[in-house]
Amino acid sequence: MTTDKLRVRFAPSPTGPLHIGGARSALFNWLLARQSGGQFVVRIEDTDTGRSSRSSEEDIKKALLWLGLDWDEGVDKGGEYGPYRQSERQDIYRRFTGQLLAAGQAYHCFCSEQELAGERERQLAAGQTPRYSGHCRDLPSDETGRRLAAGQPSVIRIKTPSGQQYRVNDAVRGEVVFDSDGIGDFVIVRSDGMPVYNYAVVIDDLTMRINLVVRGEEHLPNTPRQLVIYQALGAPPPGFAHVSLILGRDRSKMSKRHGATAVEQYRQRGYLPEALVNFLALLGWSPEDGGEVLSRQQLIEQFSLARVAKNPAVFDQEKLNWLNGQYFRQTEPVRVLEASAPALAAAGRQLPPAGTAEYEKLLAAVAVAREGACCGEELAAGLEVFYDRGTAVAGDAGEVLADRDRVVRVAELFLNLLPDRPDGEAVRQVLKEVVRQSGLGNRQVFMPLRVLLTGRRQGPDLDRLVPVLGRQEAEQRIRGRLDKLC
Ligand code: GLU
Repeated sequence: MTTDKLRVRFAPSPTGPLHIGGARSALFNWLLARQSGGQFVVRIEDTDTGRSSRSSEEDIKKALLWLGLDWDEGVDKGGEYGPYRQSERQDIYRRFTGQLLAAGQAYHCFCSEQELAGERERQLAAGQTPRYSGHCRDLPSDETGRRLAAGQPSVIRIKTPSGQQYRVNDAVRGEVVFDSDGIGDFVIVRSDGMPVYNYAVVIDDLTMRINLVVRGEEHLPNTPRQLVIYQALGAPPPGFAHVSLILGRDRSKMSKRHGATAVEQYRQRGYLPEALVNFLALLGWSPEDGGEVLSRQQLIEQFSLARVAKNPAVFDQEKLNWLNGQYFRQTEPVRVLEASAPALAAAGRQLPPAGTAEYEKLLAAVAVAREGACCGEELAAGLEVFYDRGTAVAGDAGEVLADRDRVVRVAELFLNLLPDRPDGEAVRQVLKEVVRQSGLGNRQVFMPLRVLLTGRRQGPDLDRLVPVLGRQEAEQRIRGRLDKLC
């Protein structure tokens, strides 16, 4: 027996960047496809020509690829069921509209905006739910023909059967029942000939053989209309899974107010895509063992719609920072540096060319600075002590160098003992020896050395800092600041 392979899709409207919610829908679809050997399709829903743009489409595709959510079929990639941009599928929609009209399932409606507004007002005044009265439903076909020939503007409406219940067996929400009476005959093709979202989405999912639709809960109210269209076409609908909203920590709908909402902003701020993917997967889903740090492979193996929660997910920036910090510390410094490049550039720091001694030194610095960093922005701040070769001393650090004679004595002892290429152990031994020979306390030795080396009171431990700098640079830094002491 052969079972149909899973065919899922992500269908963004290119009206802005890829947001966290969209990225999560894309990820859930992608995981389902990857774990089952199914197909992940990306289709661009650009029927809203006023708000759609090619640059948004490019941004969305770039963000998906950055997250590693590659698609098997779709825009740019091609496939059997293209084209994959709605604006290029007008012939297909027209063909289906022709069929629906011929079968008497849809009809031209000539009601003007004014007439519809009047109707709406009357219904509201009578305490009824406003819906189209069906005024043009039974126009004789010769009259319709005459009006069309005369160029009278019209929309196309679908006939919604009355007194019917539509049931969606939603994989996340369970059974959801809708009453057809609340819907009425709704527009499927606008007067400019453009299909409305609910119509295009059905034709696309049908002709692209999508058998499971996983999308945000905000689309649940659209589902009954889509079911009306499937029924009119005599086609079985796909399965549905509507994933809950994402809320901010204050439990209101996630918005810019809660921080960055676009995936690109996280790239700019130096998050690792694998950390963001891990975080997105946990927005509504959790693995059986309650684990939190999951590799892409583990996500593919463990993800299931059955464990996606019905209640809203809360976007917890601190958790993302924690997760990214975990990834920073378990990932090759070269990847951490790559991911942090946009944040470093924003801080005015360019990367030296790969393979140079400078670059290698920076990598060693990354291995130190990533310790306390939650993301590229913090890494960039932590790397400042390595980049900064000036001789300035931060305001609150000046007093550490106040006792000039003592500072010079500590510095000379340190430089006398420091080998050419010290490792951490060598630095610890040298510091011990400086303490012993100078008769000073640890703090009186470590603090001035740190300030001489970095101009700051805070920073990495000396046994981590000095091996990265190497003896030569350590000496230059120390002498540079000693020279400025009066
Ligand atoms: N184009 C819709 C959106 O961006 C998605 C439609 C769907 O998934 O059915 O919200």
